[in-house]
Amino acid sequence: MGSQCPQALAPSSVADFSQFQQHFRLQDPSVLSLPPSAFLALASSPASLISEISPFSASSPADPPAFCRSKPGQLAFSEGKEQDDAGQGGPDEDNFRASFQIRKLASSGHLEEVNEVFRSLLQPDAYAWSAVISAYSNFGCDYAQALEFYHEMINTSVVPDGHVLLEVLRACSNLLDLGQGMHTHSCILKYGLDSDVYLGNALVSMYAKLGNLDCACLVFKKLMHRRDVVSWSTLIQAYMEHGYSFEAYDLLDHMQQEGVQPNEFTLVCLLKACSNIGEVEYGERIHSFVIEHGFECNLFIGNTLMDMYVKCDSLERAQILLSKLLKWDVLTWSIIMGGFAGRGLFQETLEAFKKMQENGVMPDEVSYVYLAKACQSLESLRQGSLAHSLIVESGLELHPLVGGAVVEMYIRCRSLEDACAMFSRLPKHDLSILNVLLSGYGQNGLSQKAYQIFLSMEQEGIEPDNVTFESLIRACSISGDLEQGKQVHCRLVKFGIESWVRIGNALIDMYSECGFFEEAYELFDESSELDVVTWNILISWLAHTRQVKEAMFYFERMQHEGFLPNQVTWNALIGAQFDFEGAIQLFGQMQQGGIAPNEITFVCILQKCCRSGCLEQGMQLHSDIVKVGLDVELVVQNTLIDMYAKNNCLETACLVFGTLTKRDVITWNVLIAGHTMHNHAQESFNLFQRMQQDGVDPDRATYVGILQACSSIATLEHGRQIHNLLIDRGLELDLHVGNTLIDFYTKCGEMEYAHVVLNRLPERDEVTWSTIISGHAKHCDYALACQCFSDMQSERLEPTGGVFLSVLSACSHACLLDNGCFYFRLMQQDHGIVPSVDHFMVLVELFGKVGCLKEAEDLLETLPWISNTVGWMTLLGSCKKRGSVELARQCFDHLMKARSKSSSGFVLLSNVYAHAGLEEAVDEIVSLRKRADTWKQPARAYIEIDNQVHDFVVGDTSHSRSEEIYSTLTRINTELKEAGYRPHVALVQRGSSLEQKEKSLWAHSEKLAVALGLLSTPEGTTIRVAKNLRVCADCHDVAKLISRKERRDIIIKDSHCLHHFKDGDCCCKEFD
Ligand SMILES: [Zn+2]
Ligand SMILES: [Zn+2]
Repeated sequence: MGSQCPQALAPSSVADFSQFQQHFRLQDPSVLSLPPSAFLALASSPASLISEISPFSASSPADPPAFCRSKPGQLAFSEGKEQDDAGQGGPDEDNFRASFQIRKLASSGHLEEVNEVFRSLLQPDAYAWSAVISAYSNFGCDYAQALEFYHEMINTSVVPDGHVLLEVLRACSNLLDLGQGMHTHSCILKYGLDSDVYLGNALVSMYAKLGNLDCACLVFKKLMHRRDVVSWSTLIQAYMEHGYSFEAYDLLDHMQQEGVQPNEFTLVCLLKACSNIGEVEYGERIHSFVIEHGFECNLFIGNTLMDMYVKCDSLERAQILLSKLLKWDVLTWSIIMGGFAGRGLFQETLEAFKKMQENGVMPDEVSYVYLAKACQSLESLRQGSLAHSLIVESGLELHPLVGGAVVEMYIRCRSLEDACAMFSRLPKHDLSILNVLLSGYGQNGLSQKAYQIFLSMEQEGIEPDNVTFESLIRACSISGDLEQGKQVHCRLVKFGIESWVRIGNALIDMYSECGFFEEAYELFDESSELDVVTWNILISWLAHTRQVKEAMFYFERMQHEGFLPNQVTWNALIGAQFDFEGAIQLFGQMQQGGIAPNEITFVCILQKCCRSGCLEQGMQLHSDIVKVGLDVELVVQNTLIDMYAKNNCLETACLVFGTLTKRDVITWNVLIAGHTMHNHAQESFNLFQRMQQDGVDPDRATYVGILQACSSIATLEHGRQIHNLLIDRGLELDLHVGNTLIDFYTKCGEMEYAHVVLNRLPERDEVTWSTIISGHAKHCDYALACQCFSDMQSERLEPTGGVFLSVLSACSHACLLDNGCFYFRLMQQDHGIVPSVDHFMVLVELFGKVGCLKEAEDLLETLPWISNTVGWMTLLGSCKKRGSVELARQCFDHLMKARSKSSSGFVLLSNVYAHAGLEEAVDEIVSLRKRADTWKQPARAYIEIDNQVHDFVVGDTSHSRSEEIYSTLTRINTELKEAGYRPHVALVQRGSSLEQKEKSLWAHSEKLAVALGLLSTPEGTTIRVAKNLRVCADCHDVAKLISRKERRDIIIKDSHCLHHFKDGDCCCKEFD
């Protein structure tokens, strides 16, 4: 430090400011261009400056009045000293008593009584005035009142003492009253008190605070050798705060050279100034000074250093400091937690809290509030509940700040019950915490509960505000509770704030959400204060309900009436479009209108790409998004992942996912859904694990996605574990989750469990019933399917098209033509449902199954859908069994015309030819297929053993137990042949030897999976296998035989139905 300040340049006399000035100028040439005017002022005569600012002449100081108690430099600051003076007969008895009483009252905050006591005095003396002024300025912080007393005192010709002047200076500083401050300064000069160090320090501080550094320096200089550590510190702080950090730092040197040692006050002043102006580099220099001078152990300084680093945006250095500090307390940790939280680093906030505990520091209210806020921002209920139990243990649960933070945390983590429980435990409620709770109820549409809280709030005497009413109305509009809404509306009229535009908008929103468009429109018309938001509510509602024409009408009208559509308006209209083209057209218009798209705009358009499978447009949009820099928005990134996944680009979806720095529950959900959609169930499970390791709590949609993955490969154990988790989280009885659970159990062949879930559900909808009926259909259990159909009707639920589809498919699986036709008519005649393409396809399948191929063909010919590949494929499948070669060829021609890319058509036709013994025709089709660019999904079979999913492709040898699997299959093959089994070699392409054909049949994926099941599961247990395509006739036969020979139930879920093999038979009628 000394080396930075050459001795030659140090001031030779204690207060030689012209040398100071020289020094600064020589040290840093840049100061020359912008010198503190203070130095220029100092160059001129101090006396002349004073005469400028003072009504009194500094050169002719008035004699101190005879009745001025304190002599210059002998200010009496302590009570004891004053009492001593009083004992020598200074103030009279009354004044002394009153003064004493005033000081006592002031220190306990009874200002009104102070005034009473003071006014009871007939002739207050300097003592009494001093007491009353100090009461208002020092204890009451009512500086204006203190100054008023001061003026009154001057008017009664009582001469102020040092005490009074000190309080007056404090008042001037706080009121930023430079005029009064200067006047006081001149009084100080007049009474010859200018060499008093306390007054001097107060003057320096006041001038610095009021931006007059020149005068601050001048006073400092006049203090001469009486300058103490406070004087120096005050001036240093003033320099720092006026941006002269370099000079301030050098003052630190000069101060020491003058023999004044900096104390913690000086260092804290400097550090505070550093944080105020964000000068982290000077902060670091002071930090090294702290270390050099052994202040490291000072907790106060350590905390100020920490605070400085945090405020100067240097969290890294704060963390380093934390590791080096010799002493820390709860404040230190609170500062660093606040630093992390302030920058949105909530995970780090939690870790800091953990480290604080590990270091044996007891958390206080502030650190608990940070903890709750971090959990709240992470929306992590798990961590939030953990934090809450810590808070309960600490006994600080009912602290108003902590309790309020816990309530807010539960609301953000969507656990209203916990929020409400915590709220009711709080001994005192205020408006802000009530509004927090109400907004939670509002967002969840719990209008009744919100209203109850509102009423209890009135009982507690808390006045509601606009926010309260907005939340109430919101609750009603989300829940569609119009009755409650109308009550709130009445209350609003009573409070007279219904015309406030935000409340008006909320009301219009509520009426339209509840479907009372006329009321909404009435309010809209009556509303004197319309704004863009009002129009947007109307247009958004129309857009949301797909009344696109009406939305466009109001869009035109809005512009007609002089309101400019904004992003919200355009986004609503774009979102309402049915297709990509419409959306992109509006997008163009929006930009022509000078409105820049935001993240929501892109999300709306991208969603159209997800639906219509337009990958190219999606990719174009992606590059547009990058261009405008919106690719950093999480909501956009999530939609991009979804778009790529749904457009068959799972790899790109994963790439986008990999680049994200922040992921929320939706990010994980879309990627999980994408993997499930593309039959990568195992990867979905892995992602589910990883998301939890990343600290993201799964939500309802996550569980639904994972259950769908379980269904797709029929992993019963895995699904059951998810079911248990759902019970733990209280989500089992949720309708959407319940429906997914039913679907899962039916796909695993566990119809009994499916019924258990169904019976537990407090409410069921059409989806519930169509799911269970479809389950029975796939089990070929026509009777139970019909039973469910009538059960549904006895619950007064109207069957939908989806329900009828399940019923029809039950008829088809059971080959019941008459019943199928009956339901098909019933659906149209009694329920007015127009059959969709799916209904017709089931009918075509049914015709084909019972051998009415001509009827099926006629039906297909009359259907209005042109490229009906599914229908022709279905019929083609039926041709083999009936040996209808000609019809099969016709079906195949239809498929070719529709440019079907699937290889199934080729396979099915060659099967028909093979079955009919037309070997040359088979060859022809095989070579045709090779030329056509067909796409075939690779066959894959899955089996779950001990929570692990194993998957196989044809001829797979990658499994660790591969050798055992193949030898088991060879053994079974031999045994079955002895029992009369003949392999379906006709299924295999010609040209290879019989042995090769047999070998390739016995390498089918489902056989490999069944073999692993036999090897790895206990005797007598059920083997469950899932296959992504249909099971072939040979595997079907073999599974039947194994079920009898090995005494095992085998369930194979394929893309079409659920085969339950038991005792040598299957429930299906597929291959009979
Ligand atoms: Zn097979
Ligand atoms: Zn079967």
